[in-house]
Amino acid sequence: MDSEEFRIKGKELIDYIADYLENIRDRRVFPDKKPGFIRGLIPETAPIKGESWDNIFKDVENVIMPGVTHWQSPHMHAYFPALNSYPSMLGEMLSNAINCIGFTWASSPVCTELEMVVMNWLGKMIGLPEEFLHRKGGDGGGVIQTTASECTLISLLAGRYVAIKMFKDLYPTASKHDINGKLVAYSSDQAHSSVEKAALIGLVTLRYIECDENFSMRGDKLLKAIKQDREQGLIPFWVCATLGTTGSCAFDNLQEITEICYKELLWCHVDAAYAGSSFICPEYRVWLKGIEKANSIAFNPSKWLMVHFDCTAMWVKNSSALHGAFNVNPLYLTHEYSGLAIDYMHWQIPLSKRFRSLKLWFVIRNYGITGLQEHIRKGVMLAEKFESFVRSDQRFEVPAKRHLGLVVFRLVGDNFITETLCKRLNSRGNIHCVPANLKGKYVIRFTVTAPRTTLDDIVKDWKEIVTVANGILQEREKYMKRAKVPLGDAKCSSPDEKEELSRKNTAAVYKRLQAQREALDQTNQRQK
Ligand code: PLP
Repeated sequence: MDSEEFRIKGKELIDYIADYLENIRDRRVFPDKKPGFIRGLIPETAPIKGESWDNIFKDVENVIMPGVTHWQSPHMHAYFPALNSYPSMLGEMLSNAINCIGFTWASSPVCTELEMVVMNWLGKMIGLPEEFLHRKGGDGGGVIQTTASECTLISLLAGRYVAIKMFKDLYPTASKHDINGKLVAYSSDQAHSSVEKAALIGLVTLRYIECDENFSMRGDKLLKAIKQDREQGLIPFWVCATLGTTGSCAFDNLQEITEICYKELLWCHVDAAYAGSSFICPEYRVWLKGIEKANSIAFNPSKWLMVHFDCTAMWVKNSSALHGAFNVNPLYLTHEYSGLAIDYMHWQIPLSKRFRSLKLWFVIRNYGITGLQEHIRKGVMLAEKFESFVRSDQRFEVPAKRHLGLVVFRLVGDNFITETLCKRLNSRGNIHCVPANLKGKYVIRFTVTAPRTTLDDIVKDWKEIVTVANGILQEREKYMKRAKVPLGDAKCSSPDEKEELSRKNTAAVYKRLQAQREALDQTNQRQK
């Protein structure tokens, strides 16, 4: 492809992208494909000779689109959002054209400089204390990483570096490995699985703290666990507080947790993957209370802020801990300003770095702070509407308080009715949701993904849910009637008989539940 063809085909692709996004409602949000579906649609081996662009492009609709889960669809409610926007895509295009690799300041100075400025903008937008920002003579600052999982790992490794150094200073004869073997990290039992992964990679013990009735980690239980571990000769060193849990968007009590971490000399990382975007609205910053005593925080603008993947914002107060954990300095990477300018390679796991700040810069400038705030508030408002629909139907319940754009709901009754509802909704493909387990309750997570989502979309989603639920509840009723225990069986005269009867009934009820489940599974199977 030469530049002339690129100009023509590139413009055509832009039109295709705009049409795709504007007409995305016409597509089934969740594909009806099975693993391996692509085999047979494309050859097993690569072409010997280059193909024309027109030939390649035909396969976008024929091969690619039928297997896409359309994350930009207003009917996509699974996971957390992963939104894009036109200025973000233009930023990515330009960054792809420049394609510089900004590992050191010298490898492409503007890549580092713009990232520092934009991370300061974003830090101020969410109300972070100054110590987290790039300042003359300061040790704090922001960096764009790939994912929230990576930020958690980086923070754990930085915390580990600090803890090992502290203990080596106190006990010079102790080996790093001995100290590492005694390190204990903590998180809520609602924390994302990436925390467990970070502990696995860091070879440290992870202790889950049981959350309270609001799915929130509280200081008293954390402090108790820290003290118990110290009594066992272990070394508590790192805590991950979650602001906006994956299951129900619950918030750990940051103020209590950071206070403890500060007093007990533990590194506190704040994982605000989804909810962090909302902190650009002052009314949601109540959950950030206590952040001044945390050590690092991360959130994904690539989730809710319309800066598309990948773009995860991370700030640390103490970048020298990152240097300590990651500093390698081969001669070929040194430059005239080494040690004077920031070299982001010391702040991350990979050496290479994409020019991601460009898309973040474009989005912030194009929407402005008020435009982004409107976007967040609209998402929350639509979630409130959806919650009100659920609460208006007594067959449903909302078992955890709604926060921001995530509503968790279920059908009142046994878990498997809600499980069936979730599976059937996804197999119909008109909306897409995923489940979560909240203290043993099977719930469906419904995340509003705006910006294209309208109230009409939400009304349509609710109608779809009610239609499917009606079918399931009717089937259930049929089976309940058929499997009813005869009334005569319920009569008894002596306490012994009563005891015997309750055992019989338990078995009967259990049998009935099994029959119901089998029937629902069979219907599901038939519908597939
Ligand atoms: N932390 C929380 C609370 C999350 O909800 C998620 C994903 O949704 C993650 C971490 C992982 O995010 P990433 O895919 O950016 O690693």
